[in-house]
Amino acid sequence: MKIDPKTFIKDYLLDICIQCGTCTGSCPVKFRSPLNMRRLVRQTYITGDPASLFKRPELWACTTCSTCSLRCPAGVKNVELIMGIRNFLANQGEVPSTIRDALENTFLQGNPWGRFRDRRADWAKDLGIKIFGEATAETLLYVGCAPSYDPRIQSVSTALAKIFQKANLDFGILGKKESCCGNEIRRMGEQALFKKLAKDNTNLFKKSGIKRIITISPHCFNAFKNEYPDFGIPVQHYTQVIADLIETGKLKLSKALNLPATYQDPCFLGKQNQVFDEPRKILTSVPGLEFLEMERSRQRSLCCEGGGGRMWAEGGTEGIRNGEIRIREAVALGAKVMATACPFCLLTFEDAVKISGLTTEIMVKDISELVAEALEINFNDQISNSK
Ligand code: SF4
Ligand code: SF4
Repeated sequence: MKIDPKTFIKDYLLDICIQCGTCTGSCPVKFRSPLNMRRLVRQTYITGDPASLFKRPELWACTTCSTCSLRCPAGVKNVELIMGIRNFLANQGEVPSTIRDALENTFLQGNPWGRFRDRRADWAKDLGIKIFGEATAETLLYVGCAPSYDPRIQSVSTALAKIFQKANLDFGILGKKESCCGNEIRRMGEQALFKKLAKDNTNLFKKSGIKRIITISPHCFNAFKNEYPDFGIPVQHYTQVIADLIETGKLKLSKALNLPATYQDPCFLGKQNQVFDEPRKILTSVPGLEFLEMERSRQRSLCCEGGGGRMWAEGGTEGIRNGEIRIREAVALGAKVMATACPFCLLTFEDAVKISGLTTEIMVKDISELVAEALEINFNDQISNSK
């Protein structure tokens, strides 16, 4: 099947490109977007061979951080073009095997790793959390896939649930009925599966009488807030909720952590959804925590490379990875903690700390873990035991 370049040029506004090069210069993975992509679209049209496009590893290197789209002075839809090409290839079955597995796993088990659906809420077994269907609550804590299954991120889920219990928040989880939000699925090119997840999840939320949603991951937050059609349920990222609970005196952080810490703005929370202040308000409320701002922060923050399906793609980038660059920047700043508020950032940075041999210099923590520690809440991976 041939790609019609005219459709792509029209749909993603490529004809208004003024070739200023800002997108190329600002791409954190040095992906020559979108000029390179436009060339590839034309090449594919000539050869009639979508596989020639699929074999270009840079297509799968894009993290969909959106920096190129946000900085383009002309309004070209760069990242949407990349997702459009991935969608075209997914429809042809022309995706790398690791991506195909993640998509199939999500279809079958509701998560990209293919872990059993029935074990999705195992982390919450002994925590006394309400489960929708067995009990009612106003607010859903939408846990998400990595916080449900990944042993490192389960610590974040536990910390957050205990924080909300301490603040007497009336919340519940969906337990085994929860499915992937689809944010990464859409970015890996599977638009049809994303639409199915969006429809099924929306129906489940409405049927369960959910009036408000809090997400752990910025990726789920982005999907519900911006990409689910006819949604109508207010959604917040957990940092917005904790910042409010601290400001209104419902959470009183008491234990001093006495650590210098910096913060990584997750792309799907910061530059894509403008939640910059709340994470910083929380960190500066932690007693004894010295907050250090990295030079590249907020809109200028450097993507960790964990999003947009990168967790399941192999190759596509060369040389030192952004996670390691970022960890080295944090160490040079004098930080002993790299704080973030995203499961993908957390996993990417923990790998980067190990790869760079800096395990005695810095630790990686989710903001919820620092708050739990400051509230003297016991959870799986307390900061005092983690070095
Ligand atoms: S930033 Fe926008 S206008 Fe500039 S080269 Fe990239 S797509 Fe074209
Ligand atoms: S979305 Fe981010 S990683 Fe992808 S091409 Fe744009 S700037 Fe590069």
